[in-house]
Amino acid sequence: MRPPLPADRFVMELLQLSRESQGYKELLAKFADYLKVKLEVDEAVIKDFQGSAFASSDEVTLNTGKPYIDNGLSGYSAFPELIEYSNRGFKCCAILPIVRGGKQFGTITLLSRDEKGFVPENVNLISVASTVISSEIGSKYEIDKSLNVAKYFDASFNNLMPQLLVGTDGRIVKANKTALNYFDKSQKELSNINLSDIFDIDNVSIERLNRGLVVETFGKSYRNRSFEISPSRVNDSLIHLMINDVSEAKDAEERARMLDRSGDDAFLVTDKDFEVLWASKGTYPLFGIQREMMVGRKFTDFVVVPNTMKDILQKLSANVYSGDVKLDFGNDTYFYGRLAAYREGSEFYCIVSRDYMRYIKSAEELSRSIVKISNDPIIEVDGSGYMLSYNKSAESLFKLDNSRIGTPIYGICADSESQNKIAASLAIAKKNGYIEDVYVSLIESKNRSSIPCVQKIKAVADKNGSAASFIIVNRELLTKKNIEELGEQLQAAQKEAEKLKTESDLKSQFIYNISHDLKTPITNIMGFSKLLLTDNAETLTKEQMDYIQIIYDESERFLELVKQILDVAKLQSGIVKLDTQQVNFNEIRNNPSIKSLAEACENKGLGFVWDVDYDVPEIPADPNRLIQVFSNLIGNAIKFTDRGEIRVRVMKKKGSVRVEVSDTGIGISKADIPKIFKKFYQLRRGLVKQEGSGTGLGLSIAKEVVNLHGGRIGVESEVGKGSTFWFTIPPLARIKKRALKYNRAEHQTP
Ligand code: ADP
Repeated sequence: MRPPLPADRFVMELLQLSRESQGYKELLAKFADYLKVKLEVDEAVIKDFQGSAFASSDEVTLNTGKPYIDNGLSGYSAFPELIEYSNRGFKCCAILPIVRGGKQFGTITLLSRDEKGFVPENVNLISVASTVISSEIGSKYEIDKSLNVAKYFDASFNNLMPQLLVGTDGRIVKANKTALNYFDKSQKELSNINLSDIFDIDNVSIERLNRGLVVETFGKSYRNRSFEISPSRVNDSLIHLMINDVSEAKDAEERARMLDRSGDDAFLVTDKDFEVLWASKGTYPLFGIQREMMVGRKFTDFVVVPNTMKDILQKLSANVYSGDVKLDFGNDTYFYGRLAAYREGSEFYCIVSRDYMRYIKSAEELSRSIVKISNDPIIEVDGSGYMLSYNKSAESLFKLDNSRIGTPIYGICADSESQNKIAASLAIAKKNGYIEDVYVSLIESKNRSSIPCVQKIKAVADKNGSAASFIIVNRELLTKKNIEELGEQLQAAQKEAEKLKTESDLKSQFIYNISHDLKTPITNIMGFSKLLLTDNAETLTKEQMDYIQIIYDESERFLELVKQILDVAKLQSGIVKLDTQQVNFNEIRNNPSIKSLAEACENKGLGFVWDVDYDVPEIPADPNRLIQVFSNLIGNAIKFTDRGEIRVRVMKKKGSVRVEVSDTGIGISKADIPKIFKKFYQLRRGLVKQEGSGTGLGLSIAKEVVNLHGGRIGVESEVGKGSTFWFTIPPLARIKKRALKYNRAEHQTP
């Protein structure tokens, strides 16, 4: 057992995962993996709101907004999916709702085969996780949609290949710098003209591009040059085109020489194993590392974010990868920036640039809209911390109106420590372009209470490359107080559950004692009434004899009831040990109890079939207890069947033995099925008289016995057609585990 994870670290790690994830889908997967490992469960499944309908158990969590935790999955549940989990061998499950702003996003389901279930510490973490994940996934999802489009721009504007963004009809929407240079046109001139204006291209070719196929063509005003156009779909209406001039084969050296002149970016060429073959001059000013030092080392070894760099590069084919990177050069020297990478044959070309915000300038409106719709409060400030603009989310959280523009951000800090921190971080962002993990307390408007936030600050460069303004992204943290509150709530719930459990233990113990004490007097009543009957046959009148007979019969029924109650109590208190032997199901048929049931069938005019499959193995079980189960099921079947037959089938299923007792009787309605295995439960059935009316304990005893064997019991039934009660007995290994648990319980029972 690992020591429990502190909740605050758990939250930090979840937030870190969120920071590292490229998008919504990746985030979902990362959260699921993380929970699986940290909470030591066997399966973590995320259901996406875009997918199919929720299961009924999901809806419960979504309606309450709280995780649903079931530490004792069984074959009986109001939710079919929980029964299914139990059938698949899971012992407990937790369902976490993903809800954001009242919107239902989906659920995370954690499943564990561990019998001990979710311990209180983990329950606490699950609740925390549900809150954090909901908030992170919600915002990621919304940003993701717009970011996808922005990313393509990003790729274009950070890359030295000529690229275009076109509509599905071939109309050019946007061109990158290289394309503008290449075709010697301004953005305005290139926008709103058709591909066919600059390339020798027709509708058929445009259709090919639409379908994602590469098109080779000549340039219109460059008759002598040929191009290869590789498309990739951005969304329903946009296609991103990479224009490759294939007229001359430009080798790596030549391109590198061209790039070497650029001091703003570092340009690296690596081999297929990412070993750096060549690094441009820009390496030094950018990373503070001599270019020669990079050569021969693996580029991917420097990359800490994204941590899947290797996979990403390996998967690159015709497309360009573009995204944020964090490089680690040791000695706490980090570099934050952008990476554009593409593959050329067996080599990789990686361009790293500091100018993260470059694409914002290029695709200004797009980025503005991202800022606008972001759920995170975002504030733009100048170098001295004066606020220039803010998005809706910041506006409402900090109650900022127009009059606050031009005032210092320090006005919404909760303390001077936070003010100093922001001032210092702005200075760092000015120098490095970017800083993250700035923890501060800000003042929320509604209650004027302070809320802890973590900030990311990005410098926005002006034309000369110096920082003109700073974008501050605030992310509200789940406060320590919140976590404590959650913890308290959970503890209270836990206490309540424990109390209930002790109460139910006490009840079982009470019933056990009482029943035990009742047995003696009843036996005496029976003994003496029998004595009266036999010894005083001459002196008593016929009427008196009848009365005594009734006393005797009723006492007998009473004793039977007490014995059954005693049996249930014993089974539940865990003091029953199984007397395990190799059981042969053909032999059980010959047991006197079963034989007399078969006779009872015959007397009632019912057929009786005992059918054991040829491949059913002998299995370790307690034969007397099994016969108890058989007797109850067959007895019930006879009781509730008037014509037709009772059929017992024994078969092998997934290593276990499965027994089915079917009848052609009155059946049980769907609504009643979950009830009948409960103690003292008897169904009211209008016209049908429940002759010899039982105690309502038979099935609950059968259930206890089967469970004690590590098996499961259930029923399928249709009203008017009949019922099939089934149970399973698993092989030895599983019984041992159960028995061990029960033996342990025995030592604890007074
Ligand atoms: P009882 O001692 O009353 O039979 P059980 O626990 O064995 O108690 O069964 C509970 C109830 O389940 C019964 O009262 C009956 O209504 C219903 N039941 C059990 N077996 C069958 C069956 N084969 N067909 C129809 N109803 C059944």
